[in-house]
Formats: sequence, structure tokens, C-alpha cells
Amino acid sequence: MALRTIVTEGDECLRKVCRPVTAFNARLHQLLDDMNDTLVEASGAGLAAPQVGVLRRVCLVLDEETGEFIELINPEIIAQSGEQTGLEGCLSVPGKWGIVTRPNVVRVRAQDRNGDWFEAEGEGLTARAFCHEIEHLDGHLYVEHIDHFLSDEELQAYLEEEEGEE
Ligand code: ZN
Repeated sequence: MALRTIVTEGDECLRKVCRPVTAFNARLHQLLDDMNDTLVEASGAGLAAPQVGVLRRVCLVLDEETGEFIELINPEIIAQSGEQTGLEGCLSVPGKWGIVTRPNVVRVRAQDRNGDWFEAEGEGLTARAFCHEIEHLDGHLYVEHIDHFLSDEELQAYLEEEEGEE
């Protein structure tokens, strides 16, 4: 198990457009394995390579249905529908939360760790994570979509409301 350091807002890596992956080699596999360990350790729903200082188009997204991480290399969103408005945070913006509107269903096309193309579809949190992580690869952060970070009171009220709905 190897953990990588997650960089935080203000680090220039988070504002760069990442380059496509062209070599599907042991170095890429090591990066993916390390990102997986790092994400588990951080209890996150997704992680993009620039968050660990690697400017390549690589990210991991938690598939809510299976509980597994989907490895996405050179991903693109190819279809999206619906709308959801909800809580969003980022491992690179620790301890802060905002409300972001995203499509409710998102379909992506990406390569796996061996370079084979595949498509995956996610709904709800998984769709949100696809959008969030793929944005990271173009140097964008979710904070660009919010008008303010939630205060502790707002966060508490939001979480209580969510619980009430379940
Ligand atoms: Zn993030």
C-alpha cells in the first residue's frame, strides 16, 4: 500500500489542463493503485491525478451501486440528462462544502488501465463524481459553481433535512 499526498487549493497542479495518457504501462498501474489506496484512506468518492500532483488525464470514481472504484483514463462525458442539486466537497478543499447543481445521469467513455475503451453510466452521487473528477482534469474545481461555502449551521440543517427524507 502506498499513499500519495493530496494537494490542496492554491497548489498550481489543480489549475492545469492535464495531458492525455499514451503509455498504459507499469508506471500508470502504480499510479492507479496508489490513487486507490489514497482514496480509501481519505474515504472519498473520487480522486483525480492532478490532486496527487500528476498532470495526466486519470481519475477514480466510486460506483455507488457496486462500492468499487471505476478507473477512468482519458475520460469524456458523452451524454448527460436530468438535474440534481446537492452537497459537494473535494479532498483538495478539506472541511468545506457547497451546493452544486449537476446532471442526474452521466455517461462517460474512457480507457481502462490496459488502454481498452469502455463506457460507464452513473446516476446520483456517481454522476456527480464523474462531473467533479473530469473537471479536475481541465484545471477546474467545484468551488467555481458555488456562491458560498456552507456555514456549520447550514451544513447541519442540510444534513438533517437529508436524513428526514430517507
Ligand atoms: Zn475534487
